[in-house]
Amino acid sequence: MTGLFDSYKRRIDYFRISVTDRCNLRCVYCSDGAVPHLPRLEILSYEEVQRVIQAAAELGIKSVRLTGGEPLIRPYLSRLVELINQIAGIDDISLTTNGLLLAGYAAELKRAGLNRVNISLDTLKTDRYEAITGSNKLPEVLAGIEAARRVGLEPVKINMVVLGGTNDDELTDFARMTLAEGWHVRFIEYMPLMAPAADMAKWVAVPDMVTQIEQSLGRLEPSRVASGAGPARYYRLPGARGTIGFIRPMTECFCSECNRLRLTADGRLRPCLLANDEIDLKGPLRNGAGLEGLKQLIKEVVASKPQRHHLAEGLTSGQRQMWQIGG
Ligand code: SAM
Repeated sequence: MTGLFDSYKRRIDYFRISVTDRCNLRCVYCSDGAVPHLPRLEILSYEEVQRVIQAAAELGIKSVRLTGGEPLIRPYLSRLVELINQIAGIDDISLTTNGLLLAGYAAELKRAGLNRVNISLDTLKTDRYEAITGSNKLPEVLAGIEAARRVGLEPVKINMVVLGGTNDDELTDFARMTLAEGWHVRFIEYMPLMAPAADMAKWVAVPDMVTQIEQSLGRLEPSRVASGAGPARYYRLPGARGTIGFIRPMTECFCSECNRLRLTADGRLRPCLLANDEIDLKGPLRNGAGLEGLKQLIKEVVASKPQRHHLAEGLTSGQRQMWQIGG
């Protein structure tokens, strides 16, 4: 078998790269408010990221997703897209963003080689958007979605983290957007990363989401998406152009299909979102490690991928928060 496989025979072909730990939102469920920033020198340069991806591509990585923090606040992000686009073997470059700045960058990102975007949006209500994110810029996000679709960053997927008592009354509103606007919406089970026990009250299970949508809008039929299915299961409402995906980190433990590694902004390679093991690549990179040395380190991380996460049983201490890893 060619390619990169972990000890559980999962093919690893997908790299998520956090390009910054900074964010222009303060979503209540993502950070606990304290966001100490890494000093600039601790962050990998674009050329360093390119070298890591070059090594990864030689091992079999094919898809790259840029995330953060908020990736679009890092200056000249399209330059990084261009550098990654030059790497042989990388055939899909995507971006996860809160969409605030997307309208201004969509065209230039597309020209640089970005294929598609996922946009995080948890509510369609202005007041609620401000309560969740601390920002009143919902219109900018909606403009970002339109701009992404206009320039062909398709499929544009809208990611909604479902929070009980906060936005779970909007599931049908989002689902209706797959009919009215052809949106591809994905509902994500909230992961209680900060204070697991207390946070469980906010947690809504996917089967309850499905019931709510089907009661109002009809039966969900299994569907496929154009690209990048990842851990989601996709469905379609009768007559809808768009799809509805569900991501169930809690009720399904999506680990059996895990295909990814995560690079933090400060150059640590993580085998799993929800385990604390990391290997430092920045030190070796800056001490002159060549591609072969980097490949060896990447293989070590792949070999250390755990079979599954243990979020439901509680986290290990020192878990990085989502904004530090990139989701
Ligand atoms: N700033 C970008 C954005 O908003 O998409 C990228 C980084 S953000 C950390 C990536 C994704 O993680 C977002 O879709 C966010 O909603 C999701 N996320 C953050 N904390 C989460 C949690 N506790 N459970 C589930 N998803 C979470």
